[in-house]
Amino acid sequence: MKRSNHFFACFKKGPAIFLLVAIFLAMSFSITLDLASATSLNEIESLDYCVVVDAGHGGIDPGSIGYKTKVKESTINLAVSKLLEKKLKLIGLRVVMTRENEDGLYGLSTANYKKRDMQKRRDIIKEANPQIVVSVHMNSYIRHNLRGAQVFYDKSSEHSEDLALCIQDQFAEKLEKSDKGVAIGDYYMLKCTPSASVIAECGFLSNEEDEKLLISPSYQELIAECIFAGIVNYLNLD
Ligand SMILES: [Zn+2]
Repeated sequence: MKRSNHFFACFKKGPAIFLLVAIFLAMSFSITLDLASATSLNEIESLDYCVVVDAGHGGIDPGSIGYKTKVKESTINLAVSKLLEKKLKLIGLRVVMTRENEDGLYGLSTANYKKRDMQKRRDIIKEANPQIVVSVHMNSYIRHNLRGAQVFYDKSSEHSEDLALCIQDQFAEKLEKSDKGVAIGDYYMLKCTPSASVIAECGFLSNEEDEKLLISPSYQELIAECIFAGIVNYLNLD
């Protein structure tokens, strides 16, 4: 007997089997409907975002150096970036990291490394085609009194200003000495994409108290939480 004939033959075996099949089909249909109504179109669209997380420096370029501990900025940038990556992925966003280890992005030769490092970051951003780029850095200043976190954006980009304000709000609320407002910055990394792009300078390694906080895993977690919450607010996901 052909399979199709066998299937229809089932219906001839009596009303009990027919009833069971009907109940099964009705239940499946109702489950499908429930799922469709629970997952609204908005929710699906809102999670269709890509964020590039750019851990500043790396390799022979350590960035700033800690005033007391001589910790490398590149190491803290990477730690915070990885914490941020985890949080963003947990809510279903696509995340592209410009670097995932201590290496720089300039390749084997170190000649002219800074330019090639920056160009590689730009290439990664262009390929990812993200809605958001966040570069993670720690600040430094010749005088040791400056403290706190501040977000920089390019003045030509309204999206970037909005994103900067969302993240700075979180910094002001949760991090020490960070109620200082956003700042305009004229940096290469802020001009790599027409999408929202900011540089988060998360505290001063040239200040002893900030440095103590910035090297602690719990404060790094707090920084990542601030940037994450700022992104979520910017995307209206909450
Ligand atoms: Zn830096």
